[in-house]
Amino acid sequence: MHLRKRVLVTGGSGFLGSHLCERLLLEGCEVICVDNFFTSSRQNIEHLLPNPRFELIRHDVTFPLYVEVDEIYNLACPASPIHYQHDPVQTIKTCVHGAINMLGLAKRLRIPIFQASTSEVYGDPDVHPQPESYWGNVNPIGHRSCYDEGKRCAESLFFAYHRQHSLPIKVGRLFNTYGPRMHPNDGRVVSNFIMQALQGKPITIYGDGSQTRSFCYVDDLVELMLRFMRNDKEFCGPLNMGNPGEFSILGLAKQVIELTNSSSKISLEPLPTDDPKQRKPDITLAKEHYGWEPEVRLREGLMQTISYFENLLASGELRKG
Ligand code: NAD
Ligand code: UDP
Ligand code: UDP
Repeated sequence: MHLRKRVLVTGGSGFLGSHLCERLLLEGCEVICVDNFFTSSRQNIEHLLPNPRFELIRHDVTFPLYVEVDEIYNLACPASPIHYQHDPVQTIKTCVHGAINMLGLAKRLRIPIFQASTSEVYGDPDVHPQPESYWGNVNPIGHRSCYDEGKRCAESLFFAYHRQHSLPIKVGRLFNTYGPRMHPNDGRVVSNFIMQALQGKPITIYGDGSQTRSFCYVDDLVELMLRFMRNDKEFCGPLNMGNPGEFSILGLAKQVIELTNSSSKISLEPLPTDDPKQRKPDITLAKEHYGWEPEVRLREGLMQTISYFENLLASGELRKG
């Protein structure tokens, strides 16, 4: 028997997962972190290991997992395009088999389960900004489809378990999120630009840089995850989770160069196929249901992230992707 809330975080040693574990521990929960270290290392959670309320299990969620917990946050999945395209079959298995196993676990225990879905379910959107009611524009056989369609199938599974087994589910559609502990070499735009700027290397803009993204600082995102999971229990989502501030990739590059005082020059490179042209969340539902709005402005969040990467470079402890 346990009195404290025991929370399972899959993908817990990843970028977002490590921040979530940290926050849950701060609030007095017991945390079981499950990760197969596919795209992360123990480094992100090393500082949590001495905490007696923190437990780390090396496990691949595509295999069944039997633990006793009170709630689940399912974050396990490679998230950056180069990571999820590295082994597309494993990406689909993680999205789909991982979801089935975690839903099976939640069903056995009759506990709430959160799914980290993604703005990628909207594909290359022809509705802008994207409300949750938009069904998306996804190429089902393109290079990004292992992730996009994997996550769409996971959403479908979550709602099927909810309807068929009355399971309490929460489906959050995360938009681009950034902050300390992003992988320095996972190819995502924020980490790439900061690393390039700090090292005086060319800033690689794919296409002409007119495509847009909306960037949410990790602390704002974790706050919404907790409010979504804990309040308004009847509301299952899907819920857009992101910062509606919209920036062109060229604009982001210029801001990073300015904040790092870098001498880097911009280098234009080919645009990958199926790269969405614009993306911005409609966050009306998050405001209405949870009174949530992001608090950290891009400039402020970038400064925190830059200082993290500066320390990483200075320590000489650069992790592999
Ligand atoms: P990340 O790569 O840092 O973290 C993912 C973690 O999942 C890693 O620690 C990885 O080792 C683990 N993992 C991968 N496959 C696994 C498996 N089969 N079994 C167990 N562990 C596995 O990425 P992140 O940015 O922290 O993303 C976390 C979640 O949020 C992902 O599901 C991602 O799809 C979603 N998401 C993130 C963003 C973002 O901008 N960061 C945006 C949309 C959605
Ligand atoms: N599962 C799990 N842990 C549990 C319960 C179930 O990993 O505590 C897995 C189990 O391996 C199964 C999957 O979740 O394949 C789906 O479970 P469900 O009960 O929905 O399906 P069934 O067992 O009937 O196939
Ligand atoms: N991008 C870029 N240069 C880079 C990395 C990414 O111009 O070094 C662009 C990429 O083509 C996309 C945007 O930045 O238009 C966001 O890319 P990211 O991989 O971070 O996320 P996603 O495409 O999944 O939103």
